[in-house]
Amino acid sequence: MNFVYEYYSGLAGLGFWGYVIVTLLWMHGTMMAVTLYYHRDQAHRAVDLHPVIRHICRFWLWLNTGSSTREWVAVHRRHHAHCEREGDPHSPRLYGLKKVLLEGAELYRVAAHDQDTIEKYAKGTPNDWLENNLYAHPKRSYWGPMLLLVFDIVMFGVPGIIMLAFQLVNMPFTAAGVINGLCHAKGYRNFETDDASTNLWPIGLFVAGEELHNNHHAFPTSAKFSMRRHEVDMGWLHLKVLAALGLAKIRRVANPPELASTSSAAPEIDELRAIIVHRMHVLRHFTYNVTLPVLRRELESLGEKRNSLLSAARRYLVWQPEMLDETSRQKFAELVQRHPRLQAVLEFRSELKQLWEGAHTSNERLLTEFREWCARAEQSGIHGMQEFVAYLKSFPAMREQARAS
Ligand SMILES: [Zn+2]
Ligand SMILES: [Zn+2]
Repeated sequence: MNFVYEYYSGLAGLGFWGYVIVTLLWMHGTMMAVTLYYHRDQAHRAVDLHPVIRHICRFWLWLNTGSSTREWVAVHRRHHAHCEREGDPHSPRLYGLKKVLLEGAELYRVAAHDQDTIEKYAKGTPNDWLENNLYAHPKRSYWGPMLLLVFDIVMFGVPGIIMLAFQLVNMPFTAAGVINGLCHAKGYRNFETDDASTNLWPIGLFVAGEELHNNHHAFPTSAKFSMRRHEVDMGWLHLKVLAALGLAKIRRVANPPELASTSSAAPEIDELRAIIVHRMHVLRHFTYNVTLPVLRRELESLGEKRNSLLSAARRYLVWQPEMLDETSRQKFAELVQRHPRLQAVLEFRSELKQLWEGAHTSNERLLTEFREWCARAEQSGIHGMQEFVAYLKSFPAMREQARAS
């Protein structure tokens, strides 16, 4: 490295570790701008960043990636609207994991240049002079990375060229590749969302909380992505600091439901609304407190001690059947066939899901069907089912803050 420093080491005049630390902090800044500004503030309106912070992020992201707010937001909202289906701009289920990992940036670019996507999904993003004449201008977007090149060489000298490579590869690799690819294919799931989203914790710590992607798809408008005690959302930690400094206003956070004491009275529509808002937690509760205990008892009564079978079942249950590979699907179907009580439990679960998916029905009908479901569940004699109905009856009436979920 010495010959490089002798040649030109830039105005900053850093040593080797100085360059490493600056590069890492720089990349961290870019990820924070993506997650806090593009994603949580602009795409989902979960937080209101201070206008000064917003503008710093706009400039920073244009400088480091050449992308604009309206493009990123439009592509991302389209991803949520069509997740894993035709129209999803970067689903590994449609394009294959390898393609999304290696060519994620290209898939993003195709969607970002689609005018229909911009018109339909970019509403509410900046539309000012700077956006139209610089950040989102088709012939000037590359000016950002060019400016970064000049800055790096002036400040950091020849090593700045190596730094530039990391700065520019950061977003296409981590956001377009790792998050859009791996976070829809590998990892674990907390919630039974209709898509294939996963959490990558802890290996994705570097990507600022974006790795908790299954949590995010379960609660897209929540400013906080972590849901379980062991999960750390770096973006959320930064957001708390910004909020304490008066530089951010957190609008929505999806916390687990706060339960009241169980009521013997039949739930009213406001309680049912609270249950529906927290449906992801409700389904998770059902899996861990009804489905898996029922299967465990079944196996024990047959003299089988099959921990591996239970952990496989746990995995099957958090994925939608169509998301499983053929072998897993077959194994699960065999398991259900062998254990009729498990089958009965799964039917109850799918009826409950159908209830809230039929939101088009009238309130009265929804409530009647829900009460009937509770009565049948209580009388089913299935282990854990009475406790589960008591859990449902302990949801307090919908309050304003609960609507955040
Ligand atoms: Zn996603
Ligand atoms: Zn999102």
